[in-house]
This record gives sequence, structure tokens and C-alpha cells, in this order.
Amino acid sequence: MRRPVEAGTAPAVPILALRDVSKTYRTVRGENIVALSQTSLAFEAGEFVAIVGPSGCGKTTLLNITAGLLRPSGGTILFRNAAIDGPTPEVGMVFQGPVLLPWRKVIENVLLPIEVLGLRPASRYRQRAADLIGMLGLAGFAERYPRELSGGMQQRVSIARALIYDSSVLLMDEPFAALDAMTREELNLELLRIWKMTGRTILFVTHNIPEAVLLSDRVVVMTPRPGKVSAVVPVPLPRPRSLALLGDPAFGAIASRIRGLLGPRSGPAA
Ligand code: ADP
Ligand code: MG
Repeated sequence: MRRPVEAGTAPAVPILALRDVSKTYRTVRGENIVALSQTSLAFEAGEFVAIVGPSGCGKTTLLNITAGLLRPSGGTILFRNAAIDGPTPEVGMVFQGPVLLPWRKVIENVLLPIEVLGLRPASRYRQRAADLIGMLGLAGFAERYPRELSGGMQQRVSIARALIYDSSVLLMDEPFAALDAMTREELNLELLRIWKMTGRTILFVTHNIPEAVLLSDRVVVMTPRPGKVSAVVPVPLPRPRSLALLGDPAFGAIASRIRGLLGPRSGPAA
């Protein structure tokens, strides 16, 4: 029996959509490297999606294209159904390594997007920057320069900078990879709190399968280079989530499934 078509319920427009996106790099030696091949994905507003795949499969390329920082060789990126062809404040990014301005103090680095976008009032954002710095375990370092901080601390500054204003979409490229396990777990939970509070859409690249499952609503599994989507694994685990979930059989089953999809070459933590 066919269901009646409901009048007036147009299908929801995804906040972000990639349509047949591909990228071929040309090296200085004139070789073509196909980094990304025919990738199509759509993201609903408020979703948390993790992306896992072997090293070199084009995850960073995918995020850079989505952020409007890199032009695809083919395909389109749509933000609320309008093509993106350059960076937009609607889409924020945490890069794979900390990218801080060495001549600016920690708090000034965190406040950089506010200055660039001219957001007001300055006092509100200064307070927010101080709160984020504390939340990321950097209390007492606000007035220091990046060179006075360890690599992991610098990465936390770049995470604070990405959280200082609420872009609709946040792209995170292995943001916690350089951190020790305990800090990483704390920041996972903190990120879930911030995500819930702000309702933003997050695309989170990670090598860590348990991290992907703990955080996300869906995990996009990519193939080795040239990367494309090999599978999308739903994570129908209840929220709010805590670290206790790591021991849950349902959690283990999803993690094993993803590990199986990645294949034996990827190893337990890759
Ligand atoms: P991942 O983030 O999944 O490790 P990347 O997106 O960084 O992968 O890279 C995908 C592939 O494209 C890799 O083989 C990498 O060597 C290549 N690549 C990335 N950037 C460039 C570039 N600017 N020029 C040429 N090749 C590149
Ligand atoms: Mg990468």
C-alpha cells in the first residue's frame, strides 16, 4: 500500500552537501595525484559526523575543500543549497596542526576570528575567550606566546579559537591527535557539551575509531587513496554519552564493524 504524499512537507535541505567532489593534485614534478574521487555526502543541521580513513586517503583535502580553502577539481559544495566557492564565517575549521600567529599572545590568538569578523561586543568575547582557555586547561597561559607552550597546548589554543564564535558548521581535522589520552577524553566530553549547547553541525576527522563512535551520529568510512566514501555507519547510541559507553557491547559492535570496513592494513588505532 502506498503512503499518501504529505502536502507541504518539502524534504529538508541539508545544511551542507558535497556533490561528486573530486580533487587531483598536480605535483611539482608534473604527476597527477587523485586525492579524492567522486565524493557525495549530505549533512543535516546539528549532526555530528565523524570521518575515518587510512592516512593519505584525502580527509584533509575533503575538509579544506568544504571550508572553501581549496578548489575541487570537480563537483560542488553547497551550504544551505548555495554553492561555496571560498571561505565563509559560517564554516569554521580546526586544522590538523596548530596554526597560531607567533607574535600574538594566547588570548589574542583565540580572539582573532572576532577581530577578523568584526563581532561585538568585544568584552563579551574576551570573557568567552577566557572561559574557553580555562575549559581547555590553559588557565594562566592567556598572556603567554605560542612558543612558550607545548605542541598539545598550542593545539588546544587553536581549538579554543575555533569555538570562540558559533559558526553553523565546524570542521575538525584530527584535532586531538597530539594530545595525551586523558586530555583527549576530557576534550571529547567537552566537545559534546559544546556541540549540544550550540546546536552546530560538526564534521570530525579522526584516526581513532572509539573516538569516532563516542562522538558521532554517523561515521563516514573512506577508502584508501583515491579516497571516496566506502560506507556510512550509523551510531544509534543514546545521548548524552559518557566514557562508560566505551565498555558497552553495542559500542564495541559498531567499533568492530568500522574496523572491519577499514581493513587489516589500518591497524587497531588507525
Ligand atoms: P589525509 O588527510 O587523509 O591523510 P590528505 O588529504 O592530506 O590525506 O592527502 C591525500 C593525498 O593527496 C595524499 O596522497 C597526499 O600526499 C596528497 N596531497 C595532499 N596535498 C597535496 C599537494 N598540495 N600536492 C600534491 N599532493 C598532495
Ligand atoms: Mg590529514
